[in-house]
Amino acid sequence: MFAERLAAFHGELERELAACGRSPESVTILGVSKKQPLAAIREAYAAGLRSFGENYLQEAAEKFAPLREEGLAFALHFIGHLQSNKAAKIAALADCVQSVDREEAASALERGAERAERLLPVLLQLNISPSERFGCLPAEAPRLAERLHACSHLRLDGVMAVAPITTDRSEISAAFELAAKTLPLVGGTTLSIGMSGDWREAVRAGSTMLRIGSALFGARPSA
Ligand SMILES: *Cc1c(COP(=O)(O)O)cnc(C)c1O
Repeated sequence: MFAERLAAFHGELERELAACGRSPESVTILGVSKKQPLAAIREAYAAGLRSFGENYLQEAAEKFAPLREEGLAFALHFIGHLQSNKAAKIAALADCVQSVDREEAASALERGAERAERLLPVLLQLNISPSERFGCLPAEAPRLAERLHACSHLRLDGVMAVAPITTDRSEISAAFELAAKTLPLVGGTTLSIGMSGDWREAVRAGSTMLRIGSALFGARPSA
């Protein structure tokens, strides 16, 4: 089932990219597996998915630590709100942390990465929406980026953002364009925008990484 959904999604994505004059390799699909059982992740891996996104530390550790011990090769991105008191564990577990949105979290992550003796790729989370609680305002992003560039155990690869919750497609596009415009002020080349409901607008705005949950895994099981 997952394999069929992934193939269908790849097909739609390739058509959208072609319509934008972009190459099929210009976008990475991150499978957002939050609330999905381990069996669903195994199925996704078997279908060829190699990048996963999780929002909660404990859940991510429970599901992905065993897979890593089995020797499976994948990239685990932390995309949930970054709490400073969990930053050290997240720094040791994740291959990329996409949700760095304030100096305090950056400092906590830097300490965690130093302790784990690793260079941790991170993205700066931008707030481009009145309906989104987290993220750094675009006007404040250069300052936070400067702080991140000074962290010797963090590597700032770009930005991540969540679109406004609205039925107005032009509002979604405008928000994504704001994120795209802010990327050069931050540095890096990763533009992590686009989810199941708004990935086409994100691709048109230049997304290089789509974070896709329900369109690949199906509806999240309710707890
Ligand atoms: C849950 C989540 C996603 C995936 O959402 P879908 O609508 O299921 O594709 C992407 N990004 C973030 C930050 C999320 O929390």
